[in-house]
Amino acid sequence: MKIDWDRRTCARKGHVTYAPDEDGLRARLHAETALGGAWRCLRCGDFVLGEPHGSGPADHAPLVPRGKVLRDLFILRFLAIERAVRGVFIVLVALAVWKFSNSQDSVRRLFDEYLDVFRPVFKHFHYDLDHSPVVGTIQKTFGYKHSTLMLVAVLLLVYALIELVEAVGLWYAKRWAEYLTVVATAAFLPLEIYELTEHVSYLKIATLLLNILAVLYIALAKRLFGLRGGRKAFEEERESASLMEVEESAGVPAGAA
Ligand SMILES: [Zn+2]
Repeated sequence: MKIDWDRRTCARKGHVTYAPDEDGLRARLHAETALGGAWRCLRCGDFVLGEPHGSGPADHAPLVPRGKVLRDLFILRFLAIERAVRGVFIVLVALAVWKFSNSQDSVRRLFDEYLDVFRPVFKHFHYDLDHSPVVGTIQKTFGYKHSTLMLVAVLLLVYALIELVEAVGLWYAKRWAEYLTVVATAAFLPLEIYELTEHVSYLKIATLLLNILAVLYIALAKRLFGLRGGRKAFEEERESASLMEVEESAGVPAGAA
């Protein structure tokens, strides 16, 4: 299924029309109908009744993200939401670790009390709670030093902060956020791969794949680190975009107007 990002966006935000000063282009973007004049939308190409939203030289036309650029924006926003959700989740985990580090002793007492209550019950079913791996893991957690737990909480908060900053920057398609995302995500890849060698889960595999794809996609599509011509090519692409949009909407091959 091919998604028409242009039409979807117009349906949500409305059309964008522009009357260029150049006569040739102007004539191609304009149509007289029985209901009055209509202008061609720079994004989706539909003719829209009424006055144009703007006018002036063609290369001053508003930059309307469409086609590939618009698709890139959608992908960046998907990544932004994914990062925001992950960031909030990690903040909650950090808070839980911090709370636990402060009430470690009372939680341990509570746990031991429950253990005493349930020990005979489990014994009845021939289950030895004192040698259960789950109980062992929990008891080991109680053994962690307060300072260790605080350090874990702080590291988790720093990680969450990076994710949240990435989320905001990616949502607004900021170039620094794209760099931050690529660098930070790539930096954590070895850790994610190490995690997989310890314990394999679908969620971990999915996260790893998503992060690898995100790094490759952003670096290539946004021409980071000098890839595909780098920043210069990226900006040239943007500058010529507004004129090209008008020409393309008018059905003129780029450069022929
Ligand atoms: Zn439109």
